[in-house]
Amino acid sequence: MRDFRAELEQRQANGLYRWRREVQTPQQPDMVVDGRSVLSFCSNDYLGLANHPDSVAAARDALLETGLGGGASHLICGHHSAHHELEETLARFTGREAALFFSTGYMANMGVISALAGRGDTIFSDRLNHASLIDGCILSRARVRRYPHADVAFLEAMLAETEGHKLVVTDGVFSMDGDVAPLPEIAAACRRHEALLVVDDAHGFGCIGAGGRGSIDHFGLSAEDVPVVIGTLGKAFGTSGAFVAGSQLMMDYLVQKARTYIYTTAMPPAVARASCTSVQLVEQGDDRRAHLARMIARFRREASAMGYTLMPSDTPIQPILVGDAWSALALSQALETRGIWVTAIRPPTVPEGEARLRVTFSAAHTEAHLDRLLRALSECREAIAGTAA
Ligand code: PMP
Repeated sequence: MRDFRAELEQRQANGLYRWRREVQTPQQPDMVVDGRSVLSFCSNDYLGLANHPDSVAAARDALLETGLGGGASHLICGHHSAHHELEETLARFTGREAALFFSTGYMANMGVISALAGRGDTIFSDRLNHASLIDGCILSRARVRRYPHADVAFLEAMLAETEGHKLVVTDGVFSMDGDVAPLPEIAAACRRHEALLVVDDAHGFGCIGAGGRGSIDHFGLSAEDVPVVIGTLGKAFGTSGAFVAGSQLMMDYLVQKARTYIYTTAMPPAVARASCTSVQLVEQGDDRRAHLARMIARFRREASAMGYTLMPSDTPIQPILVGDAWSALALSQALETRGIWVTAIRPPTVPEGEARLRVTFSAAHTEAHLDRLLRALSECREAIAGTAA
Protein backbone atom coordinates (compact mmCIF):
# COMPACT_ATOMS: atom_id res chain seq x y z
CA MET A 1 0.00 0.00 0.00
CA ARG A 2 1.20 3.55 -0.66
CA ASP A 3 2.34 5.52 2.36
CA PHE A 4 -0.33 8.22 2.23
CA ARG A 5 0.79 9.77 5.52
CA ALA A 6 4.36 10.15 4.26
CA GLU A 7 3.08 11.83 1.08
CA LEU A 8 1.11 14.35 3.13
CA GLU A 9 4.05 15.01 5.42
CA GLN A 10 6.27 15.55 2.40
CA ARG A 11 3.78 18.02 1.01
CA GLN A 12 3.76 19.88 4.30
CA ALA A 13 7.57 19.91 4.48
CA ASN A 14 7.69 21.47 0.99
CA GLY A 15 5.23 24.24 1.85
CA LEU A 16 2.69 22.76 -0.55
CA TYR A 17 -0.01 21.60 1.84
CA ARG A 18 -3.41 23.14 1.13
CA TRP A 19 -5.95 23.99 3.81
CA ARG A 20 -9.63 24.65 3.62
CA ARG A 21 -10.99 27.65 5.46
CA GLU A 22 -14.51 27.96 6.79
CA VAL A 23 -16.46 30.87 5.37
CA GLN A 24 -19.32 32.06 7.54
CA THR A 25 -20.80 34.80 5.35
CA PRO A 26 -22.01 34.95 1.74
CA GLN A 27 -19.40 35.64 -0.94
CA GLN A 28 -18.74 39.37 -0.63
CA PRO A 29 -15.68 41.54 0.06
CA ASP A 30 -16.18 41.66 3.86
CA MET A 31 -16.25 38.06 4.99
CA VAL A 32 -16.02 36.13 8.21
CA VAL A 33 -13.60 33.24 7.88
CA ASP A 34 -12.91 30.83 10.73
CA GLY A 35 -14.60 33.32 13.04
CA ARG A 36 -12.47 36.27 11.92
CA SER A 37 -13.43 39.31 9.82
CA VAL A 38 -11.34 39.69 6.69
CA LEU A 39 -11.47 41.64 3.46
CA SER A 40 -11.34 39.10 0.65
CA PHE A 41 -9.41 39.56 -2.59
CA CYS A 42 -9.49 35.94 -3.74
CA SER A 43 -13.00 35.14 -4.96
CA ASN A 44 -13.97 34.64 -8.62
CA ASP A 45 -17.18 36.59 -8.04
CA TYR A 46 -15.82 39.22 -10.43
CA LEU A 47 -19.01 41.23 -10.86
CA GLY A 48 -20.19 40.91 -7.27
CA LEU A 49 -23.28 38.92 -8.29
CA ALA A 50 -22.91 35.88 -5.99
CA ASN A 51 -25.14 37.57 -3.45
CA HIS A 52 -27.14 39.86 -5.73
CA PRO A 53 -30.70 40.36 -4.43
CA ASP A 54 -32.29 39.78 -7.86
CA SER A 55 -30.59 36.39 -8.40
CA VAL A 56 -31.21 35.37 -4.80
CA ALA A 57 -34.90 36.31 -5.18
CA ALA A 58 -35.12 34.38 -8.48
CA ALA A 59 -33.66 31.30 -6.78
CA ARG A 60 -35.96 31.62 -3.76
CA ASP A 61 -39.09 32.01 -5.93
CA ALA A 62 -38.00 29.12 -8.15
CA LEU A 63 -37.34 26.87 -5.14
CA LEU A 64 -40.95 27.30 -4.03
CA GLU A 65 -42.18 26.50 -7.53
CA THR A 66 -39.78 23.74 -8.65
CA GLY A 67 -38.70 22.16 -5.37
CA LEU A 68 -35.10 21.43 -4.57
CA GLY A 69 -33.61 18.35 -6.20
CA GLY A 70 -32.85 17.74 -9.86
CA GLY A 71 -34.31 14.24 -9.43
CA ALA A 72 -32.42 12.43 -12.16
CA SER A 73 -30.12 13.04 -15.10
CA HIS A 74 -31.30 15.17 -18.03
CA LEU A 75 -31.94 12.17 -20.27
CA ILE A 76 -34.04 10.31 -17.67
CA CYS A 77 -36.48 12.83 -16.16
CA GLY A 78 -34.34 15.70 -14.80
CA HIS A 79 -34.44 18.12 -17.75
CA HIS A 80 -36.65 20.89 -16.34
CA SER A 81 -38.04 23.79 -18.34
CA ALA A 82 -35.84 26.05 -16.15
CA HIS A 83 -32.77 24.31 -17.65
CA HIS A 84 -34.23 24.70 -21.11
CA GLU A 85 -34.90 28.43 -20.61
CA LEU A 86 -31.35 28.92 -19.36
CA GLU A 87 -29.95 27.16 -22.44
CA GLU A 88 -31.97 29.45 -24.70
CA THR A 89 -30.80 32.49 -22.71
CA LEU A 90 -27.17 31.38 -22.98
CA ALA A 91 -27.45 30.65 -26.72
CA ARG A 92 -28.76 34.19 -27.23
CA PHE A 93 -26.10 35.67 -24.90
CA THR A 94 -23.25 33.93 -26.74
CA GLY A 95 -24.76 34.52 -30.20
CA ARG A 96 -24.79 30.80 -30.93
CA GLU A 97 -27.47 28.47 -32.29
CA ALA A 98 -27.65 26.46 -29.10
CA ALA A 99 -26.18 25.91 -25.64
CA LEU A 100 -26.04 23.00 -23.22
CA PHE A 101 -26.04 23.42 -19.44
CA PHE A 102 -23.63 21.30 -17.35
CA SER A 103 -23.47 20.95 -13.57
CA THR A 104 -19.95 22.41 -13.30
CA GLY A 105 -17.24 23.81 -15.54
CA TYR A 106 -15.02 20.92 -14.59
CA MET A 107 -17.62 18.50 -15.89
CA ALA A 108 -18.28 20.56 -19.01
CA ASN A 109 -14.61 20.48 -19.94
CA MET A 110 -14.20 16.78 -19.19
CA GLY A 111 -17.37 15.91 -21.11
CA VAL A 112 -16.89 18.15 -24.13
CA ILE A 113 -13.26 17.27 -24.81
CA SER A 114 -13.68 13.55 -24.30
CA ALA A 115 -16.74 13.62 -26.60
CA LEU A 116 -15.08 15.61 -29.38
CA ALA A 117 -11.77 13.72 -29.50
CA GLY A 118 -10.90 10.07 -29.09
CA ARG A 119 -8.36 7.38 -29.82
CA GLY A 120 -6.37 8.18 -32.98
CA ASP A 121 -7.10 11.93 -32.77
CA THR A 122 -4.68 14.61 -31.55
CA ILE A 123 -5.41 17.35 -29.02
CA PHE A 124 -3.21 20.45 -28.80
CA SER A 125 -3.34 22.06 -25.39
CA ASP A 126 -1.75 25.24 -23.99
CA ARG A 127 0.68 24.39 -21.20
CA LEU A 128 -1.17 26.65 -18.76
CA ASN A 129 -4.65 25.28 -19.48
CA HIS A 130 -6.90 24.65 -16.50
CA ALA A 131 -6.78 21.25 -14.77
CA SER A 132 -10.25 20.34 -16.05
CA LEU A 133 -9.11 20.74 -19.67
CA ILE A 134 -6.03 18.66 -18.95
CA ASP A 135 -8.17 15.95 -17.37
CA GLY A 136 -10.59 16.07 -20.31
CA CYS A 137 -7.65 15.46 -22.63
CA ILE A 138 -6.51 12.47 -20.58
CA LEU A 139 -10.03 11.05 -20.44
CA SER A 140 -10.43 11.30 -24.22
CA ARG A 141 -7.58 8.81 -24.86
CA ALA A 142 -6.48 10.99 -27.78
CA ARG A 143 -2.81 11.84 -28.26
CA VAL A 144 -2.11 15.06 -26.35
CA ARG A 145 0.51 17.58 -27.44
CA ARG A 146 1.13 20.54 -25.15
CA TYR A 147 2.42 23.79 -26.62
CA PRO A 148 4.31 26.52 -24.71
CA HIS A 149 1.96 29.11 -23.24
CA ALA A 150 0.33 31.22 -25.98
CA ASP A 151 3.05 30.25 -28.49
CA VAL A 152 1.07 30.18 -31.73
CA ALA A 153 4.11 29.63 -33.97
CA PHE A 154 4.91 26.49 -31.98
CA LEU A 155 1.28 25.37 -32.14
CA GLU A 156 1.16 25.96 -35.88
CA ALA A 157 4.32 23.91 -36.46
CA MET A 158 2.82 21.04 -34.44
CA LEU A 159 -0.46 21.26 -36.35
CA ALA A 160 1.40 21.20 -39.67
CA GLU A 161 3.20 17.95 -38.87
CA THR A 162 0.12 16.12 -37.56
CA GLU A 163 -2.29 14.00 -39.60
CA GLY A 164 -5.86 13.07 -38.71
CA HIS A 165 -8.52 14.83 -36.62
CA LYS A 166 -7.14 17.76 -34.61
CA LEU A 167 -8.63 19.60 -31.66
CA VAL A 168 -7.08 22.73 -30.15
CA VAL A 169 -8.09 23.65 -26.58
CA THR A 170 -7.23 26.80 -24.71
CA ASP A 171 -8.41 28.93 -21.82
CA GLY A 172 -9.76 32.27 -23.10
CA VAL A 173 -8.49 34.11 -20.00
CA PHE A 174 -5.89 32.07 -18.12
CA SER A 175 -7.10 31.29 -14.65
CA MET A 176 -3.87 31.77 -12.70
CA ASP A 177 -2.18 34.44 -14.88
CA GLY A 178 -5.11 36.56 -16.01
CA ASP A 179 -3.82 37.09 -19.55
CA VAL A 180 -5.99 36.60 -22.63
CA ALA A 181 -5.11 33.88 -25.17
CA PRO A 182 -4.08 35.14 -28.64
CA LEU A 183 -7.35 33.86 -30.09
CA PRO A 184 -7.24 35.57 -33.52
CA GLU A 185 -3.90 33.92 -34.27
CA ILE A 186 -4.95 30.57 -32.80
CA ALA A 187 -8.20 30.63 -34.79
CA ALA A 188 -6.29 31.42 -38.01
CA ALA A 189 -3.87 28.53 -37.38
CA CYS A 190 -6.83 26.21 -36.75
CA ARG A 191 -8.46 27.31 -40.01
CA ARG A 192 -5.27 26.73 -41.99
CA HIS A 193 -4.80 23.25 -40.53
CA GLU A 194 -8.45 22.21 -40.27
CA ALA A 195 -8.43 21.86 -36.50
CA LEU A 196 -11.50 22.32 -34.31
CA LEU A 197 -11.00 25.10 -31.75
CA VAL A 198 -12.51 24.83 -28.26
CA VAL A 199 -12.17 27.84 -25.93
CA ASP A 200 -12.85 27.66 -22.19
CA ASP A 201 -13.77 31.22 -21.29
CA ALA A 202 -14.55 30.61 -17.63
CA HIS A 203 -12.80 33.84 -16.62
CA GLY A 204 -13.58 35.90 -19.72
CA PHE A 205 -17.38 35.81 -19.67
CA GLY A 206 -18.77 38.68 -17.66
CA CYS A 207 -15.44 40.49 -17.48
CA ILE A 208 -14.38 41.36 -21.01
CA GLY A 209 -16.07 41.86 -24.39
CA ALA A 210 -19.18 43.94 -25.09
CA GLY A 211 -21.91 43.13 -22.58
CA GLY A 212 -19.49 40.72 -20.88
CA ARG A 213 -19.51 38.39 -23.90
CA GLY A 214 -15.98 37.26 -23.20
CA SER A 215 -12.70 36.87 -25.01
CA ILE A 216 -14.19 35.87 -28.37
CA ASP A 217 -16.22 39.08 -28.52
CA HIS A 218 -13.23 41.02 -27.12
CA PHE A 219 -11.32 40.14 -30.32
CA GLY A 220 -14.35 40.54 -32.61
CA LEU A 221 -14.22 36.85 -33.55
CA SER A 222 -17.20 34.85 -34.82
CA ALA A 223 -18.71 31.40 -34.32
CA GLU A 224 -16.80 30.24 -37.41
CA ASP A 225 -13.51 31.24 -35.76
CA VAL A 226 -14.33 29.54 -32.46
CA PRO A 227 -16.95 26.85 -33.08
CA VAL A 228 -17.15 25.65 -29.48
CA VAL A 229 -17.05 27.87 -26.40
CA ILE A 230 -17.38 26.84 -22.77
CA GLY A 231 -18.21 29.07 -19.84
CA THR A 232 -18.84 28.54 -16.16
CA LEU A 233 -21.59 30.23 -14.16
CA GLY A 234 -19.77 29.98 -10.84
CA LYS A 235 -17.50 32.97 -11.44
CA ALA A 236 -18.69 36.31 -12.91
CA PHE A 237 -22.30 35.07 -13.14
CA GLY A 238 -22.21 34.41 -9.41
CA THR A 239 -24.25 31.19 -9.44
CA SER A 240 -23.20 27.64 -10.27
CA GLY A 241 -23.04 25.31 -13.26
CA ALA A 242 -21.54 25.78 -16.70
CA PHE A 243 -22.38 25.76 -20.37
CA VAL A 244 -21.06 24.92 -23.78
CA ALA A 245 -22.36 26.86 -26.78
CA GLY A 246 -22.08 26.24 -30.51
CA SER A 247 -24.09 24.86 -33.42
CA GLN A 248 -27.29 22.88 -32.86
CA LEU A 249 -25.56 19.90 -34.47
CA MET A 250 -22.71 20.12 -31.95
CA MET A 251 -25.10 20.32 -28.99
CA ASP A 252 -27.15 17.37 -30.35
CA TYR A 253 -23.91 15.41 -30.58
CA LEU A 254 -22.85 16.33 -27.05
CA VAL A 255 -26.21 15.33 -25.57
CA GLN A 256 -25.58 11.86 -27.00
CA LYS A 257 -21.87 11.62 -26.22
CA ALA A 258 -20.76 13.81 -23.30
CA ARG A 259 -20.67 11.37 -20.41
CA THR A 260 -20.46 14.05 -17.71
CA TYR A 261 -23.72 15.44 -19.10
CA ILE A 262 -25.48 12.11 -19.47
CA TYR A 263 -24.57 10.31 -16.26
CA THR A 264 -25.13 12.93 -13.59
CA THR A 265 -28.11 14.39 -11.78
CA ALA A 266 -29.40 17.63 -13.28
CA MET A 267 -28.64 20.78 -11.25
CA PRO A 268 -31.49 22.02 -9.06
CA PRO A 269 -33.79 23.92 -11.47
CA ALA A 270 -33.79 26.89 -9.06
CA VAL A 271 -30.09 27.43 -9.78
CA ALA A 272 -30.89 27.56 -13.49
CA ARG A 273 -33.60 30.18 -12.85
CA ALA A 274 -31.19 32.29 -10.79
CA SER A 275 -28.62 31.96 -13.57
CA CYS A 276 -31.09 33.40 -16.12
CA THR A 277 -31.35 36.50 -13.95
CA SER A 278 -27.56 36.59 -13.62
CA VAL A 279 -27.09 36.54 -17.39
CA GLN A 280 -29.25 39.68 -17.60
CA LEU A 281 -27.22 41.33 -14.82
CA VAL A 282 -23.99 40.45 -16.65
CA GLU A 283 -25.31 41.97 -19.88
CA GLN A 284 -26.31 45.15 -18.04
CA GLY A 285 -23.02 45.23 -16.13
CA ASP A 286 -21.09 47.93 -18.03
CA ASP A 287 -20.90 50.13 -14.92
CA ARG A 288 -19.54 47.21 -12.93
CA ARG A 289 -16.94 46.46 -15.61
CA ALA A 290 -15.91 50.15 -15.79
CA HIS A 291 -15.50 50.27 -11.99
CA LEU A 292 -13.41 47.08 -12.13
CA ALA A 293 -11.20 48.52 -14.88
CA ARG A 294 -10.53 51.66 -12.80
CA MET A 295 -9.59 49.62 -9.70
CA ILE A 296 -7.39 47.25 -11.72
CA ALA A 297 -5.49 50.15 -13.33
CA ARG A 298 -4.91 51.80 -9.95
CA PHE A 299 -3.83 48.52 -8.33
CA ARG A 300 -1.35 47.84 -11.12
CA ARG A 301 0.12 51.33 -10.94
CA GLU A 302 0.51 51.42 -7.18
CA ALA A 303 1.51 47.80 -6.51
CA SER A 304 4.23 47.89 -9.18
CA ALA A 305 5.49 51.21 -7.79
CA MET A 306 5.94 49.40 -4.46
CA GLY A 307 8.19 46.90 -6.22
CA TYR A 308 5.81 43.96 -6.53
CA THR A 309 6.07 41.81 -9.66
CA LEU A 310 2.76 41.74 -11.50
CA MET A 311 1.86 39.75 -14.58
CA PRO A 312 0.70 41.06 -17.97
CA SER A 313 -3.03 41.08 -17.24
CA ASP A 314 -5.81 43.63 -17.59
CA THR A 315 -8.46 41.30 -16.22
CA PRO A 316 -9.69 41.06 -12.60
CA ILE A 317 -7.05 38.31 -12.07
CA GLN A 318 -3.97 40.24 -10.89
CA PRO A 319 -1.36 37.81 -9.56
CA ILE A 320 1.60 39.02 -7.54
CA LEU A 321 4.45 36.76 -8.56
CA VAL A 322 6.51 35.67 -5.57
CA GLY A 323 8.56 32.61 -6.60
CA ASP A 324 8.94 29.94 -3.97
CA ALA A 325 6.03 28.41 -2.10
CA TRP A 326 7.21 29.44 1.38
CA SER A 327 7.55 33.10 0.41
CA ALA A 328 4.06 33.07 -1.12
CA LEU A 329 2.69 31.59 2.10
CA ALA A 330 4.55 34.18 4.16
CA LEU A 331 3.14 37.09 2.15
CA SER A 332 -0.36 35.63 2.33
CA GLN A 333 -0.02 35.29 6.11
CA ALA A 334 1.42 38.78 6.49
CA LEU A 335 -1.58 40.17 4.62
CA GLU A 336 -3.95 38.14 6.73
CA THR A 337 -2.56 39.56 9.95
CA ARG A 338 -3.56 42.92 8.44
CA GLY A 339 -7.09 41.63 7.76
CA ILE A 340 -6.68 40.95 4.03
CA TRP A 341 -7.40 37.51 2.58
CA VAL A 342 -5.49 36.47 -0.55
CA THR A 343 -4.74 32.77 -0.96
CA ALA A 344 -1.23 31.69 -1.95
CA ILE A 345 -1.25 29.66 -5.17
CA ARG A 346 1.55 27.10 -5.31
CA PRO A 347 2.62 24.13 -7.42
CA PRO A 348 1.14 21.98 -8.86
CA THR A 349 -1.54 24.62 -9.62
CA VAL A 350 1.21 26.84 -11.07
CA PRO A 351 4.67 25.83 -12.38
CA GLU A 352 7.55 25.24 -9.94
CA GLY A 353 9.18 28.52 -8.85
CA GLU A 354 6.12 30.58 -9.85
CA ALA A 355 4.14 30.58 -6.60
CA ARG A 356 2.03 33.69 -6.33
CA LEU A 357 -0.71 35.56 -4.60
CA ARG A 358 -3.68 35.51 -6.93
CA VAL A 359 -5.31 38.84 -6.18
CA THR A 360 -8.76 39.01 -7.74
CA PHE A 361 -11.03 42.01 -7.96
CA SER A 362 -14.78 42.18 -7.74
CA ALA A 363 -17.07 44.98 -8.77
CA ALA A 364 -18.35 44.75 -5.20
CA HIS A 365 -15.02 46.11 -3.97
CA THR A 366 -14.95 49.84 -3.28
CA GLU A 367 -12.06 52.28 -3.63
CA ALA A 368 -11.87 52.18 0.19
CA HIS A 369 -11.37 48.39 0.02
CA LEU A 370 -8.60 48.92 -2.51
CA ASP A 371 -7.01 51.54 -0.20
CA ARG A 372 -6.89 48.89 2.52
CA LEU A 373 -5.31 46.29 0.22
CA LEU A 374 -2.68 48.75 -1.02
CA ARG A 375 -1.88 49.93 2.50
CA ALA A 376 -1.42 46.34 3.68
CA LEU A 377 0.76 45.52 0.67
CA SER A 378 2.90 48.56 1.36
CA GLU A 379 3.35 47.55 5.01
CA CYS A 380 4.26 43.97 3.99
CA ARG A 381 6.82 45.34 1.55
CA GLU A 382 8.41 47.36 4.32
CA ALA A 383 8.36 44.34 6.63
CA ILE A 384 10.11 42.21 3.96
CA ALA A 385 12.68 44.96 3.31
CA GLY A 386 13.23 45.22 7.08
CA THR A 387 13.90 41.47 7.31
CA ALA A 388 16.30 41.52 4.35
CA ALA A 389 18.27 44.39 5.91
N1 PMP B 1 -12.16 26.30 -16.45
C1 PMP B 1 -11.35 27.21 -15.86
C2 PMP B 1 -10.41 27.99 -16.72
C3 PMP B 1 -11.42 27.39 -14.48
O1 PMP B 1 -10.61 28.27 -13.88
C4 PMP B 1 -12.33 26.63 -13.71
C5 PMP B 1 -12.52 26.81 -12.21
N2 PMP B 1 -11.49 27.18 -11.47
C6 PMP B 1 -13.12 25.71 -14.38
C7 PMP B 1 -13.02 25.57 -15.72
C8 PMP B 1 -14.07 24.84 -13.60
O2 PMP B 1 -15.29 25.49 -13.45
P1 PMP B 1 -16.25 25.10 -12.25
O3 PMP B 1 -15.73 25.79 -11.06
O4 PMP B 1 -17.61 25.55 -12.68
O5 PMP B 1 -16.17 23.60 -12.11
